[in-house]
Amino acid sequence: MNPGARVLVTGATGQDGSYLLERLLERDASVTAVTRPGDQLTAGLPAQVRPRTAALDDAEALRRVVHDASPEYIFHLGAVSSVAASWERPAETMAVNTVSTAALLESMASTEGARLVLASSSEIFGSAADSPQTEATAIRPVTPYGVSKAAAHQLVSLWRGRGSFASTAILYNHESPRRPETFVTRKITAGAARIARGLQDHLTLGALDARRDWGWAPDYVDALLAIADAEEPDDFIVASGRSHTVAEFAEAALHAAGVAATDGLIVSDPRFVRPADVAEMVGDASRIRSRLGWSPTVDFDGLVQRMVAHDLALIDQADPPR
Ligand code: GDP
Repeated sequence: MNPGARVLVTGATGQDGSYLLERLLERDASVTAVTRPGDQLTAGLPAQVRPRTAALDDAEALRRVVHDASPEYIFHLGAVSSVAASWERPAETMAVNTVSTAALLESMASTEGARLVLASSSEIFGSAADSPQTEATAIRPVTPYGVSKAAAHQLVSLWRGRGSFASTAILYNHESPRRPETFVTRKITAGAARIARGLQDHLTLGALDARRDWGWAPDYVDALLAIADAEEPDDFIVASGRSHTVAEFAEAALHAAGVAATDGLIVSDPRFVRPADVAEMVGDASRIRSRLGWSPTVDFDGLVQRMVAHDLALIDQADPPR
């Protein structure tokens, strides 16, 4: 990416978007961020970033933004991005996640040489036929979120087949202190910090035996940038290659917070168990490693420690220990 490159980012106020903006500004990119009508978070965008308001399910509004910004790169991260939310709002999930992708692909035709990277998801594989999954694993999602991302992913493949530089990053779970507590990792690390400071008794979670391949979000944003600048467009799995259970994440977080392991600290409540859930996700990132030289810099323990340290510091800043 050359300094001054024109870049359009959807989902700029989310976890990945915020890390991506930092990276893009370091590279002196000229960034336009698509923001949601009425989004309070827009106020927090860096001053150098131009905000443009468009609802992601409004194809006409998105086409106008692409026309005006004339981007060389489009990072499409904006989505209803939580599996749990997709069960509560399936129609909105489908509209936002798929219409936006179709509209951006369609409008790329008018921006000569533009490159698009879609944040696709491990959820497209559903109850996967292979373990670990590769880019060749069958797409058969089992959640509304997975169905919407599968459609977006396949739209990108179609346009790539017709000559567009359109790629997907098949992102496995990637976490950071910027995750909200609607995701299990942050719920656990914030809870572990509160337990350590005597503000909470235990962690109340859903399925404890679900296995996920968790990575450090800034590493995954570096993968998005590498994919955007690859010689050829393609699908790329972005994963650590290792899976852990929710219970293991919780145990590691309590340990990192200095809480001694005792019975009853980690509770599974049926209210938090999902209608359908994938038992295990683990990705094989060989393609991006060999072709683009990407590999994660932070492992599972490093991820847990960083998130717990952040959550302990938040509590201690608000109420310094005496
Ligand atoms: P997702 O993989 O994108 O859905 O990310 P989440 O962090 O929301 O969920 C990861 C896994 O943790 C899923 O298998 C959930 O069913 C499981 N899980 C167990 N307890 C909880 C909980 O209390 N909250 C959430 N969000 N997930 C939980």
